[in-house]
Amino acid sequence: MSGFDHCVAGGGYPGKAPPGYRNIPRTKTQKARIEVDEHWASLVREAFEEYAKGDSSYQDISDVLAEAGICTRLGNPLALEMVRRLLSNPFYAGQVRYKGRLYSGAHEPIVDQQLFCRVQEVMQERSDGHQPKGKRTFLLRGLLYCATCQHLLTAESHLRGGYYRCISYVRRPRCPEPYLPLQATDSQVEEILGALHIDTEHQARIVEALDGLVEERSRLRGRDELGLRRQADAIRVKRLNLIDRYAGDMFSDEEFRTVISRYEVELDDLTRRLDFLARDLTSEVAQVKAHITTARALPELYQKCRDASERREFLRSVFRRIVVRDRSIQHIEYQPPFHLLLPEEHAKGSIHVQQDLRSFLEGEGAPRASSSQV
Ligand SMILES: [Zn+2]
Repeated sequence: MSGFDHCVAGGGYPGKAPPGYRNIPRTKTQKARIEVDEHWASLVREAFEEYAKGDSSYQDISDVLAEAGICTRLGNPLALEMVRRLLSNPFYAGQVRYKGRLYSGAHEPIVDQQLFCRVQEVMQERSDGHQPKGKRTFLLRGLLYCATCQHLLTAESHLRGGYYRCISYVRRPRCPEPYLPLQATDSQVEEILGALHIDTEHQARIVEALDGLVEERSRLRGRDELGLRRQADAIRVKRLNLIDRYAGDMFSDEEFRTVISRYEVELDDLTRRLDFLARDLTSEVAQVKAHITTARALPELYQKCRDASERREFLRSVFRRIVVRDRSIQHIEYQPPFHLLLPEEHAKGSIHVQQDLRSFLEGEGAPRASSSQV
């Protein structure tokens, strides 16, 4: 029998005790022993209890342990395999596994036999293909941003509840913003959505601006289209002449390339302006008008969502970014075209409404009114 065998047979443990315990070295008067480290032990117990309920994943457990300070030596959260080993270590139930056999240990158990067995059953069920029930839905996952460092907030499930927190919580320098409790934050946003409303006056301004844009476009087309077409034709003729003269050796290569590329640039510009006039905006305007109806009905439509995942999709289609400071909502950006229809844009006068709608409908590729000389 080796020294190790002796040790185990006597209820000892030949090695470093797992988290939740500490090794007390041998002294002149006492044998080496293993003591419960009450602070860590309570966390380990909590992890067992939570996992036994059947709806936490290894990731959930790793997260909460990391938050409480149980990490790898490098300070990373425990890998899922380490969580699995922790939860299946019979040491916590007072036993020592050695050379494939279990011995009862001399140390004090942290979890009772019943809880330990329950955890093993849950693990077994999981490995048979049962997935955790997905206990929490984070309605605002992907929508919340930290006002202090502009980071997206992550959604995390912990033993004590779900929450959102700034990603730089774990980086240095740490973000000073507090984490946001899940329920309170979700309901703040739901309240805002429930109160969304477009007043009649604002609606009238938008409709007027939209109709104005369509009208303006048809007026511009009547006025500019013919002229632009003539200019384009004239350049095409000049280009042909140039090619003829080049073929008759009246130009050097370099002169030819310079002039022909200038014609190409001018033609491109004219084509862009003609394409622009050709889009009459009717269908774009019809779409924005349909969104006004939707925007007015957002609270009722939200009520009709059948489950949490539908609600989450819905919120994503209305909100683009929700910026949070000190656990309250500081600023909201809506998805287009709601950003032109909903509050925060309200205060603007009709001129702004028209300008905003114009740049939204025409996009960034639209030529400036004062386009380059031809
Ligand atoms: Zn932050």
